[in-house]
Amino acid sequence: MSECLFCKIIENKIPAQKVYEDDSSIVIKDINPQAPVHYLAIPKKHYVSVHLVPPAEMDLLSKLFHAINQVVKSESLESRGGYRLVINSGENSGQAVAHIHVHILAGRKMDWPPG
Ligand code: 5GP
Ligand code: ZN
Repeated sequence: MSECLFCKIIENKIPAQKVYEDDSSIVIKDINPQAPVHYLAIPKKHYVSVHLVPPAEMDLLSKLFHAINQVVKSESLESRGGYRLVINSGENSGQAVAHIHVHILAGRKMDWPPG
């Protein structure tokens, strides 16, 4: 069995609040939300970071952004003030889970640059 937390969630071995699922991706609620809306869009195939996805597998990132768009539209995030997408990769970024995930944040004003 994979030791990866998000692989376990994808395999339904650990519960999560899913807001979207298709053959390639899931979107779940973050367990420790940093904004009124905080979801994680996760490809079902395990890669640690975007730069490690081989060219022949790039379609999974396109499908991941399709999943994100479905949620952005169904939750009307654009008309609710917009949203931020974040991908952490590596130690300096603060990546805690070594499986690609896009944070979808919305519902409050956000600062730039990020901390
Ligand atoms: P990272 O720091 O790797 O970019 O983000 C990992 C995210 O996963 C964090 O925002 C954290 O709150 C979230 N997270 C960690 N464990 C769980 C979990 O068991 N369930 C859910 N839904 N989110 C989790
Ligand atoms: Zn994984």
